[in-house]
Amino acid sequence: MSQVLVIAGLDPSGGAGLLMDVKVLTLQGIRASAIPSALTFQSYSRFEDWVPIDSASFERMLKLLFEDLKIEGVKLGMLATPELIEITAFYLERYRPQLRWIVADPVLKATLQKPLFRGEAFGETLKKRLFPLVDVLTPNLAEAEALTGLQLKGPEDLKEALKILQSSGIRFPVITGLKRKDRILSFFPGEEGKLGFFSVRALPAEFHGTGCALSSAHLAYLIKGHPERPALRKSLAWLWKRLRKSLELEEEASSKLASFL
Ligand code: PLP
Repeated sequence: MSQVLVIAGLDPSGGAGLLMDVKVLTLQGIRASAIPSALTFQSYSRFEDWVPIDSASFERMLKLLFEDLKIEGVKLGMLATPELIEITAFYLERYRPQLRWIVADPVLKATLQKPLFRGEAFGETLKKRLFPLVDVLTPNLAEAEALTGLQLKGPEDLKEALKILQSSGIRFPVITGLKRKDRILSFFPGEEGKLGFFSVRALPAEFHGTGCALSSAHLAYLIKGHPERPALRKSLAWLWKRLRKSLELEEEASSKLASFL
């Protein structure tokens, strides 16, 4: 069984973050260990606040797991502070030869629009220290705008944003979650400089934790041997089916932000 490591914020409700990542990876048949970067105080529909994990405890967990486990892949979510990014980058660099895939979801805001990072230098540290180590980055539209400084209004902007992300070291950036009529589109670098995209039908509900779930499923399919693009297609289809299934459960359909897993 493949072993991966998740580093993300702990949402104790399990609707997003670390627990959601572990649930998805487990359902995909991947063994996931997990280190919290922060504790968040939230439930399915309410977000109060968060605090970062202290750096010494964080590093102690990272060191122990990397020394003891044969980690093949890493999923990064909320990283909370520039210092935690630096520590993470140090270990990813050191263990890079054994890491087949590093997938990062650059979560910058909680569902209720609270920032999930601390410190002015956070974005710059993310780009400078982490992006050169990341294989797949899955920002949503707002995150891609924040990371590239562009306003993403049309296909040319999306192409330009993907190029900027690639030039900072990311092999396969995916910009997720653009809603057009009844479809939700994800964009990636296509063949011969074209803009590639996949679309799924929008479902009649708002879900929390879908960004976390999609990037974890993407990592799972990569670890199982699928290349970047087919792995993305499979993860979108898998997530869509899980979301639709959760809508069939009456209790969850009545609560806007209930967890779908
Ligand atoms: N990670 C944590 C710890 C969060 O609290 C959230 C949102 O509240 C996210 C990630 C992002 O969630 P989503 O997958 O909805 O973008």
